[in-house]
Amino acid sequence: ASSPDYHHAATPEQGVAEAEALFAGVFGGRPDGVWSAPGRVNVIGEHVDYNGGLCLPIALPHRAYVAVRVRSDRRIRLVSPQTRDAVDELDLDAIGPKGSAGEVHGWAAYPAGVAWALEQAGLGRLPGFDAALWSCVPLGSGLSSSAALECSMAVALDDLAGLSLAGTAEQPDERGRGVLVDACRRAENDVAGANTGGLDQSASLRCRTGHALELDCRDMSTAQIPFDLPADGLELLVINTRAPHQLVDGQYAERRATCEEAARLLGVGLLVEVADRDLEETLAILPADVMRRRVRHVVTEIRRTRDFVAILREGALEGGRLDRAAALLDASHDSLRDDYQVTVPELDVAVGTARELGAHGARMTGGGFGGSAIALVDRSESTRIAAGIAAAFADRGFNAPQFIPTVPGGPAGRDA
Ligand code: ADP
Ligand code: MG
Repeated sequence: ASSPDYHHAATPEQGVAEAEALFAGVFGGRPDGVWSAPGRVNVIGEHVDYNGGLCLPIALPHRAYVAVRVRSDRRIRLVSPQTRDAVDELDLDAIGPKGSAGEVHGWAAYPAGVAWALEQAGLGRLPGFDAALWSCVPLGSGLSSSAALECSMAVALDDLAGLSLAGTAEQPDERGRGVLVDACRRAENDVAGANTGGLDQSASLRCRTGHALELDCRDMSTAQIPFDLPADGLELLVINTRAPHQLVDGQYAERRATCEEAARLLGVGLLVEVADRDLEETLAILPADVMRRRVRHVVTEIRRTRDFVAILREGALEGGRLDRAAALLDASHDSLRDDYQVTVPELDVAVGTARELGAHGARMTGGGFGGSAIALVDRSESTRIAAGIAAAFADRGFNAPQFIPTVPGGPAGRDA
């Protein structure tokens, strides 16, 4: 028998205490403050961001906490014991994009990249700083530990340099946060060298407690959609499959290239532009079965996400509404498995077992080929369903999964 392995979020008090203690131990004295930003999980709308569709992320209760103190020079000192014991030391005048003389190596590229990107955006010269990072967002599990790190740094520098872009977590300045989203995305793309699209950073900076964030990937505009899971007795059980690392870069690039080629053949810039056309007629134009499957996933996923948002706007998730939402989650996974072909056995077993044990819909989330799945569950059933999934993984000889019970959390902001 296997008892499920949980990864619970630290409370803000714990996160602040950890970051402050780390800061005192490494740099001495007290920081000027502690800021934090959440990881995220996408509820529905997968592999549609680069096709101009809608995504629907929520912020996790799991956050990156950063304790920061400004310096009187332009030096940056960074420490995160989760990645390496040594302190990284850099100079704000010597940071540059990947491949340039100022290339930053290792994890320091993320926080240093944010400072670089804010200066590149013309927001003025920043002071140097010492920063100690403590995060409870699982690294590399598709839950966006990288954006949590960037966005915690961004709101810290926003405050400390008096940029006044973020507002507060309770009263966020949406336009200013859009500027920070762009800077964090640039840090990740240009300095860390990871090709990501802005979904993660938008979620970390713009999600709200009790809501999902509708993100229109054509223009990165957002809307707050009520998704108050605790009020409905529900929770989103995130299952980190811990599937062995796969060589996914080529697969992701191939899916993107197929979508671009299909859009070209259909005479549109992005596949979202064919989402309202007759699907069979659209598919009939395409030359290959694989391409038709990919487009069918994208078009149906865009429609499912719109439908899911419409259901949430109708009212509490119960009765027929809950059943319809569950069916959309299930259909999303099946489409990702059969048409987009990005699942692995661990994802299919997690989802299949969750459904058998009474989840209100379950699907893989993120890019696929490993990473995490989600199941919408009654709070009272969550541990039973987690135990069943853990047992199913053990039976098949998979790595033990990790469970992350989640309700929609708040955005990046100041904690202390
Ligand atoms: P994900 O964002 O899905 O967790 P990524 O590969 O995008 O996965 O980001 C993981 C990388 O982000 C790590 O390899 C590390 O460089 C950096 N990172 C994230 N969290 C931390 C942390 N707490 N300390 C140091 N580096 C971190
Ligand atoms: Mg990431």
